[in-house]
Amino acid sequence: MTPVIAFHGVGLTYPGPRPVHALRPADLAVHRGDFVTIIGPSGSGKSTFLNVAGLLDRPTEGTYLLDGTDTGALKDAERTALRGSRIGFVFQAFHLLAHRSAVENVALSMLYAGVPRRRRDERAREALDRVGLSHRIAALPSTLSGGERQRVAIARAIAAHPALLLCDEPTGNLDTVTAASVLGLLEELHTAGMTVMLITHDPAVAARGTRGLTIRDGVLAETAAGRAGAAR
Ligand code: ADP
Ligand code: MG
Repeated sequence: MTPVIAFHGVGLTYPGPRPVHALRPADLAVHRGDFVTIIGPSGSGKSTFLNVAGLLDRPTEGTYLLDGTDTGALKDAERTALRGSRIGFVFQAFHLLAHRSAVENVALSMLYAGVPRRRRDERAREALDRVGLSHRIAALPSTLSGGERQRVAIARAIAAHPALLLCDEPTGNLDTVTAASVLGLLEELHTAGMTVMLITHDPAVAARGTRGLTIRDGVLAETAAGRAGAAR
């Protein structure tokens, strides 16, 4: 089966008088239904890796196939469209619009994907229901707890039914109990068929994946658990 993500020598160097090799050329295949965790210390290239995988940044070398499509051959507008339809993002800092309700935050994410207004609203309600927030759809972010805000952000990420959910330290701003419940939600989505990649610097969080990678000084590597997973 075509991998969701196929990296062939994909790397990213930030230019400058002292270039930063944020992601060293990497080969990687992520398959449908994987729950990949990537662990590494601060500054090791985790966000760079996820932003490349999520089509937010273009690699400076290598070939990246997303669902078999050579993303290097796409124009910016085509990459944006592909990202909007195939990829959901969850960030550490939620990034919700402060003056919009939960349902508006989720629905607005589909504005530029050309989803008609009624359909946006339906999908937003559906997604908020999936994350357990159907009773809070009219709430403003400031009236929600950290865990609830991250659930709204997850609803926003999944509302357009992406193939891939990319999470950059999604529990980094949450207390332990709330973090566990948000991780539980991501596991539920994975069980329901979502392909998930999650970045963390917390070994306990990394252990929740079905496959583990490490990144250190820009070098991506499979962990022992990951190799066992790949052999299954
Ligand atoms: P992490 O998410 O693991 O903390 P990042 O991917 O954000 O790491 O950063 C990896 C390396 O790339 C760091 O050395 C960081 O300083 C550098 N870096 C990140 N973004 C840029 C940028 N836009 N320009 C130059 N260097 C950058
Ligand atoms: Mg980061």
